[in-house]
Amino acid sequence: MGGVAIGVDVGGTTVAGGLVDADGEVLAHFQEPTHGRGPGTALATLLDLLGKLEGVARARGLQIAGAGIGVPGTVDAERGVIGADIHYVPELAGTPLAAVVGGRLGLPVFVDNDVNVLALGEWIFGAGRGARSLVVLALGTGVGGGIILEERLHRGHGGFGGELGHVPIDFDGRPCICGGRGCLKAYVSGTDIARQGSERLKREVTAAEVFELAAGGDAGAAEVVDEVCEALGAGLAVIVNGLNPERLLLAGSVAKSLKPLEAEVRAQVARYAFAQALATTRIEILVRDKDATVRGGAALLHYETRRRASC
Ligand SMILES: [Zn+2]
Repeated sequence: MGGVAIGVDVGGTTVAGGLVDADGEVLAHFQEPTHGRGPGTALATLLDLLGKLEGVARARGLQIAGAGIGVPGTVDAERGVIGADIHYVPELAGTPLAAVVGGRLGLPVFVDNDVNVLALGEWIFGAGRGARSLVVLALGTGVGGGIILEERLHRGHGGFGGELGHVPIDFDGRPCICGGRGCLKAYVSGTDIARQGSERLKREVTAAEVFELAAGGDAGAAEVVDEVCEALGAGLAVIVNGLNPERLLLAGSVAKSLKPLEAEVRAQVARYAFAQALATTRIEILVRDKDATVRGGAALLHYETRRRASC
């Protein structure tokens, strides 16, 4: 594949896009508030960002090979059509985004779920380089998973593969936004950590503040953090025992807060996972910036170009 790739991450708050070279180096990066033009304007923001990236490429004499786009929801990745279940940017539901953007650029464009895209980015350019199997668990506002097995992204038969935030870790546990009960997400997402912290401390706190307060010796916050580590241990054990991937990477804003607690997280996984399986799965907590998701979009373009050529 010649030329640079455009990688885009469509989030509920910002749309980030960049020009990425064949080594995963981000050569230019822009981001805009998703709904800076008002509600329902994510597509206009995305197209504006692409225009800026095309301008930079032209000015620097770079040829664009195509684009990969990550979105926060389910996607029919074969056709590049956004599913009905799209969080934070509901106006994109049902949009044939690959065709719309591809028509605008006159180049190949691929679209996938944002955590699948993140997993491809880490696999092709990042901490998962060279691995035959890899799982990324993204812990942010929500919790999502991206699974690569035997060098293939595992999207699942109906496109729902990788929903690791909604594996139940407590069969009689907390209700979850998905309608289920005891889901991993209900214990370890930023939203749920903030809610638990606020209830326990009797004032509004963010997830990051819960971790900071716990580190500073606040007993109430420390109880919440202990519960997060224990729930995560059970959730990661599902992945270790069920898939035994070569690498298991934790990403997202909550992962950043968990980085100083790496030893505690490992101890909790060890309580639940098979020792021999755990010994062969390398767990890593990643601290990443926005470039990681942009790089992921570029990785999606590389992956799909290669996959479709070999079909
Ligand atoms: Zn759930």
